Order: sequence, then structure tokens, then C-alpha cells
Amino acid sequence: MADYDVVVVGAGNAALAASVSAREAGAERVVVLEKAPREMRGGNTHYSGGMFRFAFDTIEDLLRVVPDANELAGFPEGVEPYPRDAFWADLLRITNGRTDRELAEVLISNSFDTVCWMVAQGIEMEPAVSLGGVMVGNVIKWPKGAIVRAKHEGVGLSRSWFEIVARRGVEIRYETGAWKLLCNGGGRVAGVVAKGPGGGAEITGRSVVLACGGFEANQAWRAQYLGPPWDHAKVRGTKHNQGDGLRMALDIGALAHGQWSGCHATPINAEAPAYGDRELTDKTNRLSYPYGLMLNKLGRRFVDEGEDQQFFTYARFGGVILNQPESIAYQIFDAKVRHLLEPRYATSEPVTADTLERLVERLDLDRATALETIEAYNRAAGRGRFDPGECDGMAAKGIEPPKSNWAQRLDTPPYLAYPVTGGITFSFGGLKVDERARVIGTDWRPIPGLYACGEMVGGLFHSNYPGGSGLTSGVVFGRIAGASAAMKQSE
Ligand SMILES: Cc1cc2nc3c(=O)[nH]c(=O)nc-3n(C[C@H](O)[C@H](O)[C@H](O)COP(=O)(O)OP(=O)(O)OC[C@H]3O[C@@H](n4cnc5c(N)ncnc54)[C@H](O)[C@@H]3O)c2cc1C
Repeated sequence: MADYDVVVVGAGNAALAASVSAREAGAERVVVLEKAPREMRGGNTHYSGGMFRFAFDTIEDLLRVVPDANELAGFPEGVEPYPRDAFWADLLRITNGRTDRELAEVLISNSFDTVCWMVAQGIEMEPAVSLGGVMVGNVIKWPKGAIVRAKHEGVGLSRSWFEIVARRGVEIRYETGAWKLLCNGGGRVAGVVAKGPGGGAEITGRSVVLACGGFEANQAWRAQYLGPPWDHAKVRGTKHNQGDGLRMALDIGALAHGQWSGCHATPINAEAPAYGDRELTDKTNRLSYPYGLMLNKLGRRFVDEGEDQQFFTYARFGGVILNQPESIAYQIFDAKVRHLLEPRYATSEPVTADTLERLVERLDLDRATALETIEAYNRAAGRGRFDPGECDGMAAKGIEPPKSNWAQRLDTPPYLAYPVTGGITFSFGGLKVDERARVIGTDWRPIPGLYACGEMVGGLFHSNYPGGSGLTSGVVFGRIAGASAAMKQSE
């Protein structure tokens, strides 16, 4: 007899959702194996902003998820419903039509119901005011679909999941890293070999759910799959997501899927540590660039800062910055927009000056070119009506690259500059799974007894990513994986 009904590998958002779902679906003996020590538990989920993108048709639906939000001044007047077709349109646009349609349908059609399931489990949600909300007059305006986060962000989300799994009687083994999948004679996955505090051991289970993240913290794999300069990128989250689960699955014939040369990476404070800081979590992010300019070390702009709302560009711009000379850029703002900078900017001190000349003197870049760039931008900017709450069409044209929205002149001292680099969040390449979260093999058939969820699912995101989709995907596929893995008991 197997040691467990379901063995879940990893202890982040996807894994813990899978373990709860497996218990709900009738699995009695469920174990979660976590490579990290207890004090480092929670994976990338702990470091996250806790934001969930999900489809909802009416404000009443939204208020089912955030019932206390009515007490917030200016809410929900500035919220637009986000029906499934809007989520679809965003995902298709952002991934250049490359998202796996079958998986995207699973993600989008289950997104609302799954977030409601989380709330029913006891996970509290709140409007993500400091992340995406912009006060315009008396109304908080929201980027489309990016409105709700777990209370106390990733730290609260992770803590809540651990409380829930404890109540559900799920066993957790810390410092227990799985490194090999066990298969029986019929090719069915029958457990894992893991290295725990007492040494290596076989842990058998009737099903295995892999939920142990992507390869974002693995420098060699980053060099191999993403190419230089990704090997020297800072990692925004856990150092434990080394691609172990991907390697184990590929070793037994799982099918690689999605964009293995792509990843999610964001503009972060250039002084951020090499790996995520458990206290700072996601506060190194620097995402208010749509209201300013970004200059590289050559003193040039290199991207349309106002191409779209931040949650539709930030996951791509990290990589664009990383690919600039020395992987550094400066975000430059003037006093007119200082109040619009996300509160996360308060975790570092900007370089400030009363004139643009004095500002660039204090930056480590080509100063003459930087001033020319800003002057050319200022000549092209300032036409139209500035509205921070939506794409306002206030464009600076005739410069390369143009700035498509929020193109106010930089003309009001004091001026501010924040040095940024690109930090990797998670890799896009993963395993092929089906609508039951079964891992598909290179023979295009499900590998019996093996499921995957979270960052390990390949195919959903390509080149870019709509903010808040990762956590939703983790719970959607985690919930399905857990239920499927438990159901196998009766097969
Ligand atoms: C700073 C930051 C902010 C983010 N903000 C958001 C956000 O607001 N909204 C959003 O949707 N997404 C966000 N993301 C992305 C999202 O949080 C992650 O992609 C998601 O949490 C991943 O969940 P997961 O369960 O797949 O993996 P993780 O939460 O990373 O969990 C994987 C776990 O597996 C463990 N593990 C690894 N290898 C092994 C092994 N061999 N054996 C056992 N255990 C192993 C790890 O230790 C880890 O605990 C953010 C990510 C970061 C880093």
C-alpha cells in the first residue's frame, strides 16, 4: 500500500490549493513536500503582491469576493466589470495570440468560481488600492481586471493557505526536496524519491501533483533557455525554484510546452538583493514608469513607457531593461506626478535635483545625450488631457520610440530619478497539461498518476503576461489537479 493517497511537491499557492482540493475530493492521506525549511516556506507566493485577475460580470459579483470594499471611499464607482471576453481579449493581445487556447479557457472560465472557492476556504481579499488604484477626483480608477488582492498580500495569502491545510489535516514535510519520480512497472507514477533531514527516502503515493515552481532561480537553465544576460538577473522571489519538478517530469517523458525562451520579469530597484527579501517581498517593484521616462546608460529612451497600463507592460519591460547596457535604466519623474508613484517607491531614496541638468549630472549615464533625449521628448510631449486612470491618448509622437499615453512634459521641479534593473519573477516554459491538469507525455497521452499546476504549467503565457494571472492560474489548476489526483483513488 502506498504511504499516501496524494503526494504534492512544493508548498506555494498552487500546491496548497491542490492539497485542500484533494482532501475535499476524498483523499485521506495527503502530504506536501517542501524543499525549503519552514521559515522559508511559501515559495514565490510569499513574495507576491497577492493580486488575482479574474472575470466578473457585475459589481455585485465583485462584492462577493470583497464584501467589505463598500466601506472604501471611492469604491466601486471606478470599477468596470471584467467579463470573460475582456479577459480573453487581454490574454490574446498580451501573448500575441500564442496562449494555449485550451488552457486559457480553463483559466478564464474557472477564474471567478475559483476565487470564490478561496474565499469560502477562509482567504480574505481586499481591493488592491496601493497596487493599481488611482484616485481621480473622488473616484478610485482601476486598471482592467487588476482590482483584488489577498489581504496582507502574498504574506497573508501564504499564511492563510498554511492555516487552511493544517485544519484540513494535510501533513507537511519541510526540508524535503523531491528529486526523482518513481514509476511502477506499468509506467504509472507511484511517488517520489526525496532528500529530507534524515537523508534520501522513497515516499510513495497513488498520485503525485507537481507544484514546485519554474526554473527562474536556476542560473544555468536561465543561461541555457533564456540566454544571456538572464544568467545574471536578480530573482524577485524564492531561491528554491530551480526547475526540479520540470527536470523530474521531463526525465520520465513529460512533454515540454510553452515558451521556454520567455519569462516574466519586472523593473525593480537596481539595489534589490540577488534573491527575494522575505520582509521587502514585492516592494522592490518600480512600476510607475508610464508617468515618466526611462533612460539607459547611453542616455537614450528604449521603450514606449506609455504603451499601455502598467499591468499589461511591466512583465515584459523587466526583460527590456535587463537587456540595456549594464542592465540598468533610470526612471525619471517630475513633481507633477510624484503623488502618482506607487507607495512601493518609498522603499528607496531617489536622486533629486531642481533642474534637469543637475539631475543628470548625478546619474551614471551619458549626460549630454540624456539631456538631448529629454529635450526632444519635451518638445513632442504635452498635447492632450492627462488622465492617470486610463489610457489617455496624450502621446508624444515624432520621437523614437514614441510615448503613447501620459506624455506630460518633464518641466516641474524637483525632478526625481530611480535606478532600476530587470528582476526575474518566473519562467514561462513548463509542462503540457490537459483540462484535468494531467501531465501529458511525449506520446501525447496522459502520464498516469502525474499532475502539475502553478508555474509548472506551460503554454499560458508568451512574451508577456496580464498582471495577476499567475496566482489565479495556480489556484485554478491546483484545485483541478488536487481533485483529479484524489479521484484516481477510485479508478
Ligand atoms: C515578487 C513577486 C510578486 C508577485 N506578484 C504577483 C501577483 O501579485 N499576482 C500574481 O498573480 N502573481 C504574482 N507573482 C507570481 C506568482 O506569485 C507566482 O508565480 C506564484 O506564486 C507561483 O506559485 P506556485 O505555487 O506555482 O510556486 P511557488 O509559490 O513558488 O511554490 C513552489 C514551491 O516549491 C518548492 N520546491 C521547489 N523545488 C522543490 C522540490 N524539488 N521539492 C519540494 N519542494 C520544492 C519551493 O520551495 C516553493 O515553496 C509574483 C511573484 C513574485 C516573485
